[in-house]
Amino acid sequence: MTPEPQFDDLYREVILDHYRRPRNHGSLTGPKTTVEGMNPVCGDEVTVDLQMNDGTVAAIAFAGRGCSISQSSASMMTEQVLGSTTATARSLASAFRAMMVEGAPPADSLSDLAALEGVAKFPARVKCALLPWTVLEQGLDKADSTA
Ligand code: ZN
Repeated sequence: MTPEPQFDDLYREVILDHYRRPRNHGSLTGPKTTVEGMNPVCGDEVTVDLQMNDGTVAAIAFAGRGCSISQSSASMMTEQVLGSTTATARSLASAFRAMMVEGAPPADSLSDLAALEGVAKFPARVKCALLPWTVLEQGLDKADSTA
């Protein structure tokens, strides 16, 4: 008999910490690219504000509501991509998606985001974790096309 995944895996301390005290939360003032998305299955909403400067994420903020997985993923994502080039931000998104969807071991570059690895065992929650990243990628596309 295969042991069932433990639900506790979903709620590791680092996840709860980002959920309770989200980093880079709110909205940016000044010129920015704003993209929003939602995950109707869970009711998650995430809006990401980006300020790009010379191909680098100069500022990022997110707002939203929903489950701890979606909101903590967004919070950790903003910490990880702030100051990155567009290419680095995109490769982080790919590494995160590989961990969540393909079950790849977490890349070192993911840092705290590795805490979400356990969510990959819960297909219904994978969409929660990926939502902010999908929004980020749309924001990078939009910023590129208006640069
Ligand atoms: Zn959710």
